[in-house]
Amino acid sequence: MRHTKIVATLGPASLNRETIAAMIRAGMDVARLNTGHGTTEEHMRSAALVRDVAAQAGKPVAVLLDLGGPKLRTGPTDGGRPLDLAAGSTVTLTPRLVKGSSSLLTVGYPHLTEDVAPGDQVLLDDGRIELQVERPTADGIECRVVVGGLLGPNKGVNFPHSSLTAPALTDHDREAVRAGVECGVDFFALSFVSQAADITEARDLVSSLGSDTPIIAKIERRRAIQNLEAILAEADGAMVARGDLGVEMAPEDVPLEQRRIIAGAADQMIPVITATQMLESMIDSPRPTRAEASDVANAVWDLSDALMLSGETAVGRYPVEAVAMMDRIIRRAESVAPPDRAPLARPETDDHSHVVAIAARRIVESDPNMQAVVCHTLSGYTAFLLSKVHPEAPIYAITPNEAVCRRLSLARSVVPMLGPLVTTSEGLLRTADALLMNAGHVRWGEEVVVVASHPVTSGSTNFLKLHRVGEGASA
Ligand code: PGA
Ligand code: MN
Repeated sequence: MRHTKIVATLGPASLNRETIAAMIRAGMDVARLNTGHGTTEEHMRSAALVRDVAAQAGKPVAVLLDLGGPKLRTGPTDGGRPLDLAAGSTVTLTPRLVKGSSSLLTVGYPHLTEDVAPGDQVLLDDGRIELQVERPTADGIECRVVVGGLLGPNKGVNFPHSSLTAPALTDHDREAVRAGVECGVDFFALSFVSQAADITEARDLVSSLGSDTPIIAKIERRRAIQNLEAILAEADGAMVARGDLGVEMAPEDVPLEQRRIIAGAADQMIPVITATQMLESMIDSPRPTRAEASDVANAVWDLSDALMLSGETAVGRYPVEAVAMMDRIIRRAESVAPPDRAPLARPETDDHSHVVAIAARRIVESDPNMQAVVCHTLSGYTAFLLSKVHPEAPIYAITPNEAVCRRLSLARSVVPMLGPLVTTSEGLLRTADALLMNAGHVRWGEEVVVVASHPVTSGSTNFLKLHRVGEGASA
C-alpha cells in the first residue's frame, strides 16, 4: 500500500470522465478544483462528475475546493499586448481600472496608497518583474522598475513586505463556499491566509451554512509564516503552497519553511499537503527531471500527508502519467528508506484518544506480528490522530459516514472504508474481520490492533484490543 496520498488539480487537460477515471486508477486520492479559474457552476458540475466517476470506481475520492482568496492581479492591456517595463523607469500602480501602459498599471486592490509604503517591494508575474515603491500619488503609488521585463495582462502581484488588509474571503470565495457546502465538497482550501482570524472567518461562514467541512490553510505569504503557529492551531489542515511562497520568500527559504510547516502541522495533529512544481516538467514532457523525482521523495521523507499536482494535471499534456509517476516515486521512496518518523508529539497527555493512538503505535513497533491498525471512527478524529502518530503499518479506518470516509483519503497511511455503525465490542471485531478479509487486506489468523470508542461517541477513543483476525467468530 502507498502511505502518502496524491492530490491532483483538475483543469482543461483532465476534466472529462475518461481522464478522471484513469487518474483515479493511477492513484489520485483527492481531486482539487481551483476557483481561481472558471465559474462556480462549472466547479459544481466538476465536483459532481468526480463523485460519479469515483462511485463507479468504488474508491473514496475527496473533492477539495480551493478558494482563490485575495490574489492580486494587474489589469488588462491594450489588445492583450505585453507591456515593456524597462529597468530604471517609473510606473504608477493604481486601483482604478485602466488599460495598462508602461507608465500606468491597474492593481486590483483598493487600499494601495494606505497599505503600501515607500521602499516596499512589488513583484509582478511570479516575481519575474520587480518594482520598488517610491511615493504615493493622487492616483496610486509611483514605483521604480528594479528588474524589468515584458508584462502581459492579468498577471499576479505580490507585496512580500507590506501588511495588506484585504479580507481573506472575497465575494467570489463566499459564493464558492455556499455552492461547495450545497454540493458537499469535502475540503475547502483558503488562499493567502495571513492570520488565524482568516480561518475563523471562513469557518464561521461554513458553520452558518450548517456544515463542518474542514478548512485547509494555504501557507503562501510571509505574514502566514510569521503567524504560523496560530494559523495551524485554527485550521483543519495545511498546505505548503510553494508557488506563491517562493515569490514572497527567497528560493533558499522555501525548503526550510516546508519543514517548519510540516512540523507545525504535526504539532497540531493536522494533515499537511506539499504543493506546486512537484513534477512541473511533466506539463510538457512524459518524464520528470531527476530533481523533481528527488523533491517528491524528499517530501515523502519529510512526512507530508499528501503531495499535490497542479499544472501537471490541470493543463499538462500528461495528466494520467503524472499521477502514475508520482505514485511510483512515492512507493519507491516509502519502500527503500522508511522515514525518520517524527518523535511522538505530546508524549504525555491525559487525552484518551492520544493515549490510545500512541499505544497503538508502540504495539505495532514492538510486536513484529502486528499487521495493521484497525480503527472504527464516526467523525474521523481517531483516524487522523492515528495517522499523525505514524505507526509503521496501514491504518484501516472504518466509518459509517460517507463524507468522513472521503475526508480520510487525505490522511497519510489511512485506508478509508465504509462500514456499518457497530455498537457492541464483539461487533467491532467481527465487522473489522469481515471488511478487511473481504477486501484482501488481512488474512485469517493475522494480528491487528483494533481501536474505537466504546460505547460509541465521537471524538473520544477509549477502546484498544490486540486481536487475531477470525478469533472469537462464532461458527
Ligand atoms: P495556487 O496555490 O496554485 O492556487 O497558487 C498553490 C501555491 O501557491 O503553491
Ligand atoms: Mn498560491
